[in-house]
Amino acid sequence: MNLLDDFAKRAKKYIDERGDQPVYPGASAIEKLRYLDTPLQEDSIDASAILALLDDYGSPATVKSSGGRYFGFVTGSSLEAAMAAKLMATVWDQNGALSVMSPVASLLEEVSSNWLVSLLGLPKNTVTSFVTGATMANFTSLAAARHALLKNQGWDVQSKGLFNAPEITVIAGDELHVSLMKALSMVGFGRDRIIRVPVDEQGRMIANKIPVIHGPTIVCAQSGNVNSGAFDPLEEICDRVKNDNVWVHVDGAFGLWAAASPEKKYLMKGIELADSWGTDAHKWLNVPYDCGFAFVKDKQVLFEAMSATAAYLPEISMREPFQYVPEMSRQARGIAVWAALKALGKKGLAAMIEKNCRQAKRFAEGLQDAGFLILNEVELNQVLVNFGDSETTNNIIKKIQQDGTCWCGGTTWHGKAAMRISVSSYATTDEDVERSLQAMISIAKEN
Ligand SMILES: *Cc1c(COP(=O)(O)O)cnc(C)c1O
Repeated sequence: MNLLDDFAKRAKKYIDERGDQPVYPGASAIEKLRYLDTPLQEDSIDASAILALLDDYGSPATVKSSGGRYFGFVTGSSLEAAMAAKLMATVWDQNGALSVMSPVASLLEEVSSNWLVSLLGLPKNTVTSFVTGATMANFTSLAAARHALLKNQGWDVQSKGLFNAPEITVIAGDELHVSLMKALSMVGFGRDRIIRVPVDEQGRMIANKIPVIHGPTIVCAQSGNVNSGAFDPLEEICDRVKNDNVWVHVDGAFGLWAAASPEKKYLMKGIELADSWGTDAHKWLNVPYDCGFAFVKDKQVLFEAMSATAAYLPEISMREPFQYVPEMSRQARGIAVWAALKALGKKGLAAMIEKNCRQAKRFAEGLQDAGFLILNEVELNQVLVNFGDSETTNNIIKKIQQDGTCWCGGTTWHGKAAMRISVSSYATTDEDVERSLQAMISIAKEN
């Protein structure tokens, strides 16, 4: 089929050249997207002409976040093996709902789940729910928590709903991520009911400030603050709050991966004491969008919370993927995850995490040596740098973004404007770091 040859050629060119392009597309490339915005014509168009349109106008307008010099948000690239596996899965077009619809999807989800649980040091019987990202991972975990705690009170939330149910207290650190707030609101807990615990200067929950707990309670801890990269003290938190009526959930959208690194796993001390954990694969595992995991210690609870009917499909020979997730028909996400883990191996995964942490330290040192203020303790992959007052800092961020050597976003930390550098990509080389540092420093000094 010529289409696939054409596709392969275009894809290769994109990947080969992405490092030479400005990381953020120029205004004219974005302007030209208008050629894709036409009234829908009457007649069909040949597939290769469609591919050409996408490549001619779409490719130049992409953000080169899969390359080595994108440090915005917390954005991973996609490992070659994961990208190829995802393309293969697209060719296969498997429905990842039932094993009978796709034995390969079911098997690879189960195998990757077992690998992940062991890599991260989670309790032995923990199961994995393959979802779109950390927001849905948090949502899925919280639905399991809600079900378990109410079941303990003799209330079946799946059939009776939340109206008139026993109350569940929800506790989270004051630095909880907005998406966790969204997940809590979607499972019916309400943003304004969340009891927020004070945090220290890095954004870590202060365990002894957690109020005394009565009745069913969910405590949401965070591993990896989106700004500072800091970790809540999980062991202390669990020691303080755990009992049969308390469920501890960990939002570890990127930070959970520290558990896979011998150098960094001290940050996740106590990880095994929690009940559920949410993380992303499209962030630090460098799997293509979209992919995340909810890990739940109690399989039965997850099954009941996600059940379509009162009866479950027995998993005698194969996993039935839809029983672990909110969806029915769905992308076969385990395929790219399996490929990423298989390609990296245990050492390769640890090396990727540790390399990015080292590169973050180098950014912090380089900027500090040039006279700029680093606002956080750089223990992981996140760096917050301040260039002066808010106006100056925001101006410099804008110029760095326009320069195109690299891309970083802005944020606010303790009332100070800051540029946030997040190093989360296998594709980032030490040379990318030096080149980006040079661009940042010369732009900031020129200002
Ligand atoms: C990115 C992030 C999320 C949300 O993840 P999505 O993949 O965008 O849904 C949640 N929590 C933290 C700490 C994050 O960094």
